[in-house]
Amino acid sequence: MSNTILDVKNLRTTFYTHMGEVQAVRGISFEVNQGDVLGIVGESGSGKSVTAMSIMGLVDEPGRVSGGSILFMGQELTKLSDAEMNEYRGKEISMIFQDPMTSLNPVYTIGNQLIEVIRRHTDLDKDQAHARAIELLQMVGIPEPEIRIKNYPHQFSGGMRQRAMIAMAISCSPKILIADEPTTALDVTIQAQILDLMVRLKNQLHSSIILITHDLGVVSEVCNKVNVMYGGMLMEKASVFELFDSPQHPYTLGLLKSIPRDVTGERKRLVPIEGTPPDLLKPPSGCPFSPRCPYAMGICVREAAPLYTLSDTHSASCWLHHKGAPVVEGFVQVEEESVHE
Ligand code: SF4
Repeated sequence: MSNTILDVKNLRTTFYTHMGEVQAVRGISFEVNQGDVLGIVGESGSGKSVTAMSIMGLVDEPGRVSGGSILFMGQELTKLSDAEMNEYRGKEISMIFQDPMTSLNPVYTIGNQLIEVIRRHTDLDKDQAHARAIELLQMVGIPEPEIRIKNYPHQFSGGMRQRAMIAMAISCSPKILIADEPTTALDVTIQAQILDLMVRLKNQLHSSIILITHDLGVVSEVCNKVNVMYGGMLMEKASVFELFDSPQHPYTLGLLKSIPRDVTGERKRLVPIEGTPPDLLKPPSGCPFSPRCPYAMGICVREAAPLYTLSDTHSASCWLHHKGAPVVEGFVQVEEESVHE
């Protein structure tokens, strides 16, 4: 039996601005299975956060999901009204953001905000919700939760605010927790604690995580699989082991070379990716990475590469995998039948 919880197919999200159509997400497909921690990585503007907002049904005007499908446990989410989507948002799929201060209301106590979320999605009465809120704060490691529940957000440290946000996000035991750069604003020690907490809670609740990050170090520590996005498209999908052991897209290689130390902890020289990301108002018709790619060929500029299947858990959108392409060390070539959209 399939344990796929989320099945995203050919998703497109477009912003209809007065300047023209910004094609923020351009036909991406991926699955999330129960227990997965899926990392979505890429530079700013690669479409990773818009992908998350599309799944949550939170793309604001002038944007909207303009094509494709988001199937959550058999339910097509793109067809739901906002009111219908509210039944899923926060309950079945919840999200934590980079800066908890933008999500927490400074004029209400942590407890009030937590109790409100619990009561919105459950039948618990006020006293039961209060008890559940204390239990949740305890689960996320807030000391003296009976006292801390009366605090306002400004009385919590950055790490504690993020813990409170996680408590809110897991209050209804969601099937998927989407975390958008959840630790970027925190120092390294707190960052490790928060990531560890998220994974522990995911295991406890038998749920899954989609972790949006620009940090491959974070991915190597907590994810089991990863999608690499660029210019609104998927460049590479792989298990974490495959991605770090044998990256098969020049953009992924560029990202790996531009992190301060590799996953073994070894110090090395930083090699930035030259150039800038594409303008999604006028995205290139071919491979979006072609203006920055050291291996670009004529076809790369004319036509985007299909996704070549390299193993059951590894695929990459790059013409270098075509059996007729010039051989580049480290890149495998596959038969035509191994291509899928
Ligand atoms: Fe580079 Fe061409 Fe591969 Fe794009 S398709 S990453 S331009 S080699």
